[in-house]
Amino acid sequence: MGDKKWDAVEAKKYHILEWYFGYKQFRSGQEDVIDSILSGRDALAVMPTGAGKSVCYQVPGLMFDGVTLVISPLISLMKDQVNALTSMGIRAAYLNRSLSNAQYNKALGNMSRGMYKIVYVAPERLVSERFVRVCMTLEISLIAIDEAHCVSQWGQDFRPGYLNIARFINSLPKRPVVGAFTATATADVKADIVQLLQLDNPVMLTTGFDRPNLFFSVMHPVDKRQTLIKLIQERSGKTGIVYCSTRKKVEEICTFLCSKGYSATRYHAGLTDEERLKNQEDFVYDRKRIMVATNAFGMGIDKSDVRFVIHYNMPKNIESYYQEAGRAGRDGEDADCILLFGAQDISTAQYFIDNAEANAEMTPEQNAAFRQKEEERLQHMIAYSKTQGCLRAFMLRYFGEHTPDSCGKCANCKTKYRMVDVTVDAQKILSCIVRTKEQFGSQVICDVLRGKETQKIRSFELHKQTTYGILRDVSASQLKSLIETLEDQGFIRHIGVGRPVLKVTKSGWLVLKGKVSVQSREALKVRTTAKTMGAEVNPELFGELQKVRTAIAGKRGVPSYIIFSDTALRSMCTILPTTDEMFLRVNGVGETKLRLYGEQFMRVIREHVSGDSSISAL
Ligand code: ADP
Ligand code: ZN
Repeated sequence: MGDKKWDAVEAKKYHILEWYFGYKQFRSGQEDVIDSILSGRDALAVMPTGAGKSVCYQVPGLMFDGVTLVISPLISLMKDQVNALTSMGIRAAYLNRSLSNAQYNKALGNMSRGMYKIVYVAPERLVSERFVRVCMTLEISLIAIDEAHCVSQWGQDFRPGYLNIARFINSLPKRPVVGAFTATATADVKADIVQLLQLDNPVMLTTGFDRPNLFFSVMHPVDKRQTLIKLIQERSGKTGIVYCSTRKKVEEICTFLCSKGYSATRYHAGLTDEERLKNQEDFVYDRKRIMVATNAFGMGIDKSDVRFVIHYNMPKNIESYYQEAGRAGRDGEDADCILLFGAQDISTAQYFIDNAEANAEMTPEQNAAFRQKEEERLQHMIAYSKTQGCLRAFMLRYFGEHTPDSCGKCANCKTKYRMVDVTVDAQKILSCIVRTKEQFGSQVICDVLRGKETQKIRSFELHKQTTYGILRDVSASQLKSLIETLEDQGFIRHIGVGRPVLKVTKSGWLVLKGKVSVQSREALKVRTTAKTMGAEVNPELFGELQKVRTAIAGKRGVPSYIIFSDTALRSMCTILPTTDEMFLRVNGVGETKLRLYGEQFMRVIREHVSGDSSISAL
């Protein structure tokens, strides 16, 4: 392309970003992907959740002459995206099994008449004869493949339908540009995507995985429920997800939160389709504030104003954790990702790995290799849960990024420590383990040291031990964490599966003999939250604008964030726009949104501004 022509393309892409989406700038990475697609070259873009993948194919899609097909695995996501596009004045539709026959026929008819610029389809649709026939008659300029990792059997989300994509593309009269998008970055998966989707010499783009607005923390609470309540209380009125590892836990925690008066709902694979859909919508439409769910919830949920994600249990790997936690703060505003670690979580995760059904499409060797990989991934997850170093750095390194040692913005970086000598208490613990003949796990050892009267202690006559009750004054949580410290530093080890028992190691014996001292890091100050949000905007005005947004969303039958994000409302509070021109300056306001909603918001802002000036005139 000549320079002049390219300049025009440059101008056009910014114009479209501003006109429809109301954004002034591309985010890092977006422009590279768009330029590649516009120049006609395939692309594979690896970008984390919330980075803004959709803009990467929607902007070029609007610039090309023909139609853009977006292949997406999730019905809820398609609906959401199409809602969002339509509300910006872009002609879009989706074709999937959620449509009735009549609706499907109508949409397909409209598509064949070229009435849509962007069409979302499920991969299974690509083998439907009628759909393919329509595609043969149309000019398809771009095919965007969302969640492209679904084509790989190595990933968690393999979808056989994705294997049809390459054949479909090859059958088209003219090959469109193909863009593949995913948040999963491992080398195996990337190679699979290129090969199985038959990408043609694609530009490979990986934007940084960092999500600067997320505040990470790991807690090791003794009483998870109490901690959960406290965390939710501190975030009252905010929207959040609580992930649990089992359906049973979801039921238990959801009931618990409801009994405490919180607005909570639940989601897991054991519910009926109807209930799942209803609960999901209650959450998306802000009728319920807290979603308690297993990992079955979330993929394809675009709710951008989730302010916290709490993991009640440790997930089985960092990939899952980062993806689930990453559902917080997609709007770019501050959000918290908190992991509540408990030793029990390790056995649960291990159980899931041991009992996972073999993938019928893989050979026994591949399945064995997969399980081995899962084991390794679990070890990394455990290490994350226990690290005292920077949490963000830990995860980014895991994804292969070079990062500084400390981010200054996670709970571990914000925590100040001092070193405490705990040799004497350590000796008491070690001695208790040795004297009870290394036959018990940490719970029993704790009980003996704290002088408890339990069935086990009576039946093994442990109350007659000399170490019985010698750490009576130490709280159970302190003692547990001390035992963890001893294990982390290699002075003791858990041996055996099922009911592991504690053994003293060689270096542990050196402590017992007084030859080595034990130091423990003690936290002086922990912060588990992102900086308080919205402090600088007027809360009353923000509340009024929220009401306007809720009313419009209700009337249109779409979630509030489809109308405007919290970021846009906050930007209105700062800019205080009272004219069309000013309103367009708000991030997230394009021409269509100005025309449709501008006046309703500006009316409230004008009242607010005049109210203010009458006060200052007094
Ligand atoms: P992903 O699919 O990568 O998880 P989305 O495409 O859903 O992310 O985008 C996440 C959020 O970021 C959306 O609310 C989107 O409107 C917003 N966004 C995308 N690009 C920009 C941009 N250039 N400027 C401001 N906000 C953006
Ligand atoms: Zn950090």
